[in-house]
Amino acid sequence: MLPDRTQVLIAGAGPFGLMLANELGRRGIAVVLVDEKPATTASPQANATQARTMEHYRRLGFADEIRALGMPPDFPTDIAYFTRFATHELARFTLPSSREARQLVSTLSGSWSAAELPHRCNQKYIEPVLRRHAEALPGVSVNFGWRMIRFRQSRNEVAVEVQPVGGGPAKTVQASYLVGGDGARSTVRQALGIRYTGETGVVRDFVGGRMVAVYARIPDFYREIRHRPAWMNVNFNRERRCFMPAVDGKGEFAFHTQLKPHEDLSRVSEADAIAMVQAAIGAPLRVEVLARGDWTAGHSLVADCFGKGRVFIGGDAAHLFTPTGGLGYNTAVEDAVNLGWKIAAVLKGQAAPRLLESYEAERRPLAVRNTAHARRFADSLGLYQPPAEIEDESPAGEAARRRAGEYFNQHGRAEFNIPGITFGGRYDGSPAIVSDGSSPPPDTPNAYVPTACPGGRPPHLWLRDGRSLYDLFGFEWTLLCSRETALPEKAHLKVLRLESPEVRELYGADFALIRPDQIVAWRGNSDVEAELALKRLSDG
Ligand SMILES: Cc1cc2nc3c(=O)[nH]c(=O)nc-3n(C[C@H](O)[C@H](O)[C@H](O)COP(=O)(O)OP(=O)(O)OC[C@H]3O[C@@H](n4cnc5c(N)ncnc54)[C@H](O)[C@@H]3O)c2cc1C
Repeated sequence: MLPDRTQVLIAGAGPFGLMLANELGRRGIAVVLVDEKPATTASPQANATQARTMEHYRRLGFADEIRALGMPPDFPTDIAYFTRFATHELARFTLPSSREARQLVSTLSGSWSAAELPHRCNQKYIEPVLRRHAEALPGVSVNFGWRMIRFRQSRNEVAVEVQPVGGGPAKTVQASYLVGGDGARSTVRQALGIRYTGETGVVRDFVGGRMVAVYARIPDFYREIRHRPAWMNVNFNRERRCFMPAVDGKGEFAFHTQLKPHEDLSRVSEADAIAMVQAAIGAPLRVEVLARGDWTAGHSLVADCFGKGRVFIGGDAAHLFTPTGGLGYNTAVEDAVNLGWKIAAVLKGQAAPRLLESYEAERRPLAVRNTAHARRFADSLGLYQPPAEIEDESPAGEAARRRAGEYFNQHGRAEFNIPGITFGGRYDGSPAIVSDGSSPPPDTPNAYVPTACPGGRPPHLWLRDGRSLYDLFGFEWTLLCSRETALPEKAHLKVLRLESPEVRELYGADFALIRPDQIVAWRGNSDVEAELALKRLSDG
C-alpha cells in the first residue's frame, strides 16, 4: 500500500530515481518511488560505469557488489575495432579485467589516483542492486507497476496522482517534493513546461539517425572468433557498421546498428535483424534474438531548467545524450548524488531551502559539458569514412586497414580513457561553494589534475595502511585537517584529523571542507573560517 503522505515522491526508477532513493533513504528521509515498468530494466542499455560513479557506489557501500557483476572477473574490458568480427582486427585499446582493476587501482597516481576504476557492466545488472539497497532502507517504499499521472503543487507541498498500471483506482500522495526521474519523455518535465534545448536529429553515417538494437545470444562467438575477446566490439566496413558490447562475457551481446536512409524500421523482421548481426560478424554464426528495440542517436539536449518550485527533474528527464563516451547514465547518477543530500538537508532543517537552487546551478552546466563531449566522440566515430578498399585482401587493403587502425587507436583512447571528464567536473560559481580565489587546472577530457581548489572532486590518496582517503570521509560533511584543531565533531560534521604532510601538500591548505557528495566546498588555513563556511553553506 502506498502511503497517503511522504517527504519525497520520485517518479521513475531508472538509475537516477533508484540512486536518489538511496541517497535520501540513507539520510532517514521518507521516499515513495514509483515506476510504470513491472521491474527494473530487462534490456541492456548503458554499458559503462565510470570511475566517479563507482566511487559513489563505494561511498554507499556497494561498489564491490557492482564490480562482481557483468562479465566474468578475468574477462578483458578492451575496446576493439574490426572490419568484421570474424575477419580483420583494426585496433585495440587494452583495459584491465574487473579482477585486475581491483588490484591496479591502489597503484595508480596522477590522472587515475582514485578509490575506484571504471567498471564495464550493463545497466540491467546494476539496477537490481540499486533497487535492493533502496528497498532495504526503512523509509523507502519502492513501487513498480505504478504510473505517475499528474501533480499539482502548492506553496507547501505537491499532490501527486499515481495509478496502478494493471488497473485500479488512482491515488493521491502528498509530498514535500516531487522529483521526475522519468526519462526522455518525462511527464514531469513536460507538465512543468520545461523544454530541452541543444541539438537533435544530427545525421551521421553512424550514431546519427535511427538505430536498431538487438539483444542477442551468439552461443558460438567466443569459440569461432579467433580474436581475443573484448568488452566493446566495434565494426567498420562499407556495408554495415555497428557497436556490440559484451553483456555477460559468455555469448550475450547488445548489438546496435544504424538504419540506412532507404531502410524502414517497420519492415525490419527478426530474420533481417539476425542477418544484420551476421553481416557484422562476417560469418553465419547462430544468432538468437532475446529482445529488439530501436532508438535515435544524435541528441545533445539539456533541459532549460531543472525544476520549478517543489518539483525537480534529473537524469534523462533533464538531458539526453548520444551514448558515445558512456556518459548518459553516469551523469544521471551524479545528478541524484547532488540533489539527494541537498533535499535531505532542507527537509531536516539543516539548510535553508535556497540550497536547492544550487542543484540546477551545478548540474545544468555539467550536463551541457558532458553532452558536448559525447557529441564530439560521436562525430569522431560516426563521420569517419572507411576507405573503399578496407576489406580487400590486397596490399592496398592492408594499407587501408593500417590507416584505419591508427585512427581507431587514437579514437579509442580519446573516448574511453576519460579521467578528465569523469573526475574533472566542477561547480565553480555555485552558491554552495566558497571560492578561495584560486583557479582550477584546465578542463581536459583525457587528463585530470587533482586539485582541492573548491568546487571539484577532492584529491584522492591511498594511505600508508592501504585505506582510501575517501573511506575516512563522513557520510555528511567532513572537515579534513592536516593541522591540529579544537573544533568539535557535530551530528553532520566529521572532523578528520590526518596530520600528514602528504595530505597538506595535496590539498594546498591546512583545512578542507568536503561536502556530502564528496566535493571540496572550501579550503583554507583557519578552522574558525571553516566553521563559518559550513554555517554559510548550511544556511544556503
Ligand atoms: C539502447 C540504449 C543504449 C544506451 N547506452 C548507454 C551507454 O552505453 N552509456 C550510458 O551512459 N548511457 C546509455 N544509455 C542511456 C542510459 O540508459 C540512460 O541515460 C539512463 O538509463 C538514464 O537513467 P534515468 O534514470 O534518468 O532514466 P531511465 O533509465 O530512462 O528511467 C526512467 C524511468 O522512468 C519510468 N517512467 C517514465 N514515465 C513514468 C511515469 N509517468 N510514471 C512512473 N514511471 C515512469 C520508466 O519506466 C523508466 O524506468 C543508453 C540508452 C539506450 C536506450
